[in-house]
Amino acid sequence: MLSDMNIELSIEFFPPQTAEGLAKLKNERAKLATLKPDFFSVTYGAGGSTRVRTFDIVKEIAAEGFDAVPHLSCIGSTRAGIREILGEFRATGIRRIVALRGDLPSGMAEAGELRYANELVEFIRTETGDAFQIIVAAYPEWHPQAKSPEADLRNFARKAKAGANASITQYFYNADAYFHFVDKARSAGVEIPIIPGIMPITSFYKLARFSDACGADIPRWMRRQFEGYGDDVESICAFGLETVTRLCERLLQGGAPGLHFYSMNQAPLILEIQRRLGL
Ligand code: FAD
Repeated sequence: MLSDMNIELSIEFFPPQTAEGLAKLKNERAKLATLKPDFFSVTYGAGGSTRVRTFDIVKEIAAEGFDAVPHLSCIGSTRAGIREILGEFRATGIRRIVALRGDLPSGMAEAGELRYANELVEFIRTETGDAFQIIVAAYPEWHPQAKSPEADLRNFARKAKAGANASITQYFYNADAYFHFVDKARSAGVEIPIIPGIMPITSFYKLARFSDACGADIPRWMRRQFEGYGDDVESICAFGLETVTRLCERLLQGGAPGLHFYSMNQAPLILEIQRRLGL
């Protein structure tokens, strides 16, 4: 039974741009808090564009008594800039960070002083020792810029070797891709937990656009089914819920150590998936 298993649960938000979005996020967060997640994480905009907003929400979450985990990306940044941010995190009592390379914002040509996430992990360890638990990104369907699956796996292993404690995957809808990736990582000597990232589905067309950009595959059988529903939002939601719930079930039964939900700042689908899973 899934309810007897020790499953790590985390939920990700993005920093809204408006006061209205912030108020809504607070509301959705309160609903998700009933799930007692291990942590809430907050994304970090390309090139530091959301630095202040990310940090403000992280502080708000921490004040509510939850483990608040900021994402931090290094592309386009300097060592001095990252050092300053790490100092702010420490002073606030933050204990975990999701450490990423990020993507260069359009118009920004300079990659900065730390080019890849493994360099950021190494920098955080050198600067702060064991002050933070470091989580990195993993890609069961491979990162879109990777030269080859083997090269991507080597780069993932570099992040673990540099001192990452755990990883969260890009979302995917093919459980076999996850299990294959975990097998490959273990064969390459990478022992850190690999937590599947789960994207609940509200709008198929938005998801399809986003997935093309980040290299996540929507399997043909799912695509065809969604397309068949046209604008029938209710059927899209029902099919999305059923598919994602079954994916979570398969992942957990197959040994995944937990679930990390990409919430898109919305609670209802996550609450319903957890209810159906009996968690
Ligand atoms: P890396 O691990 O550095 O990999 C990037 C690419 O470079 C890969 O193709 C890899 O194979 C290659 N590579 C890595 N190391 C080397 C090396 N040493 N030499 C040569 N090639 C190398 N983006 C945001 O902007 N903000 C967020 O808050 C955010 N949160 C995320 C959370 C999760 C869980 C995930 C999975 C992704 C998130 N992203 C976020 C997206 C992420 O920033 C992008 O996918 C980005 O393109 C890669 O970041 P990374 O940390 O995986 O990079």
